[in-house]
Amino acid sequence: MALRFTPLQVLVAFLAATALAPLVLPEFYVTLLNYIGLYAMVALGLVLLTGIGGLTSFGQAAFVGIGAYTTAVLTTAEALPAWLAWAGGSPWLALAVGLVITALVALLVGSLTLRLSGHYLPLGTIAWGISLYFLFGTMETLGGHTGLTGIPPIAIFGWELDEGREIYYLIWAFLLCAMFTTRNLLDSREGRAIRALNGGMVMGEAMGINTSRSRMVIFVIAALHAAASGWLYAHMQRFVNPTPFGLHIGIEYLFMAVVGGAGQVWGALVGAGVITVMKQWLQDWLPRFFGAAGNFEVIVFGVMMVLILHRAREGLWALVARLVPLRRAERQVPVADALERKAMPDRGEVILEARDVTRRFGGLVANDGMNLEVRAGEILALIGPNGAGKSTMFNQLSGVDTPTSGEILFRGRKVTGMASREIARLGMSRSFQHVKLLPAMTVLENVAIGAHLRGGKGVLPSAWRLERDEENRLLAEAARQIERVGLAAHTFDEAGSLALGQQRILEIARGLASDPCLLLLDEPAAGLRLKEKQALGDLLKKLRGEGMAILLVEHDMDFVMGLVDRVVVMEFGRKIAEGLPDEVQRNPAVLEAYLGGAE
Ligand code: ADP
Ligand code: MG
Repeated sequence: MALRFTPLQVLVAFLAATALAPLVLPEFYVTLLNYIGLYAMVALGLVLLTGIGGLTSFGQAAFVGIGAYTTAVLTTAEALPAWLAWAGGSPWLALAVGLVITALVALLVGSLTLRLSGHYLPLGTIAWGISLYFLFGTMETLGGHTGLTGIPPIAIFGWELDEGREIYYLIWAFLLCAMFTTRNLLDSREGRAIRALNGGMVMGEAMGINTSRSRMVIFVIAALHAAASGWLYAHMQRFVNPTPFGLHIGIEYLFMAVVGGAGQVWGALVGAGVITVMKQWLQDWLPRFFGAAGNFEVIVFGVMMVLILHRAREGLWALVARLVPLRRAERQVPVADALERKAMPDRGEVILEARDVTRRFGGLVANDGMNLEVRAGEILALIGPNGAGKSTMFNQLSGVDTPTSGEILFRGRKVTGMASREIARLGMSRSFQHVKLLPAMTVLENVAIGAHLRGGKGVLPSAWRLERDEENRLLAEAARQIERVGLAAHTFDEAGSLALGQQRILEIARGLASDPCLLLLDEPAAGLRLKEKQALGDLLKKLRGEGMAILLVEHDMDFVMGLVDRVVVMEFGRKIAEGLPDEVQRNPAVLEAYLGGAE
């Protein structure tokens, strides 16, 4: 059998190598490792922001600059203004001040740019990246283009880190700490919300996630990582000028994150390492072949980037990881106390009411004066031919879309115009006709997203693993719902590997994890085999027995008729019939709608 290591063994070996490196390596390599550590800090922020959150930023170098210049000014100024005098001279206080300033700038810049969509966001980051760069170069207190010199070394309990070998340990301690906290964060409630940003915004919001907040969170975290790197950089170099904070360096940081493997914490380190070494190597070797005249390294560098991105789309980390075969521990669902549940409404109580709901898309009236009521403890089917407006109606009811006119009441409250995440909190959950899940995440994690709104622990506890009690309860709840819908055998499979029918069932489990009293299911039986349909029918009946209200869109008449209490039939956006399954089936208007044109 091939030799395999446990993740812990690999980690210990890595830490030992990191600790020993400066003792055995020549000065030159220690310096190189220092730069790699500094760059990897910034790239790590971009892994979170770009690789995982899908928000591209070219402007990170400017945040590095804020960290560097703040400490440069505070530790070199002869006399600081009175309100800052307390911070004078101490690099550690300057770090704190730098982080606060960075957070404020990131909040401001983020609130202006994060709302931009598509290509406008990267363009926005270029704009503020350039602005800050020029600000560094023109402000007199910052030394203009010559910069500031005489920055003191950082001291730890009187030990001055004035040599490369010394500050090495601080740089790498920062980096490892940042990697540790980032990894923890991603593996948490907050992290699942972040991972839902890239491709799962509508779903995330419908599950109670505030996606604008999550975007801001990763933007600020990425900026803070950059600022910490800048602080270390300033005290390593002992001087700063604007050059390393310009746009082209911002682009390089992005390259590092992408080349390393944009969705991977270790990718930041690999990317920073490869690009730093490659640049160094090109700068040393190219002049020997082509003479010192041209900037050939830029061209060769560009070509190599394209090759790497072309050959290893997942980034280099995926290749490195394959070299070290790991022995995976068996994964288990944590055992934990059940989460609290909301009180269910009384059986028979009207909990959802749509009044004259109309939704126009340009000239098309997808919903036209729709009225319907759903009671606790009943299954109501919404049926009708394709394009009748059923999914549109679901979107109006669940707050994914807002009606052009009319109103919707849920548990006696007007919810028209409310965000879908707020409606979800009131106890309405839904599945989607076109399945919306995060294919690379496990079934367990996907279902745990449904339980998001039942937890409350934020970024800091997650980063330091202080939320394990709540997290275990959320995961245990997810596992319970997975078991309930019959997917237990797939708990740790990637959601994307399930058959389509199973993915629909996963969505039901995810909905259930939010502790709803109303479930909206858009074509849950599509793609299911007969046996699976029967199991689904049994599950829905059981939920109804517990007092749950279920509103169901379905095409399969046999499935619907044997299951539901009442039926509402739609055609061309309007309600054309309503009643018991038997009545509706015999209704001439309904027969006409379904068989219309067939003589
Ligand atoms: P159903 O779910 O009953 O098959 P839908 O609600 O999906 O029907 O669609 C009803 C009509 O509204 C269709 O003609 C569809 O093309 C249109 N429609 C749905 N969503 C949109 C949208 N976002 N923009 C424009 N037209 C839409
Ligand atoms: Mg539909």
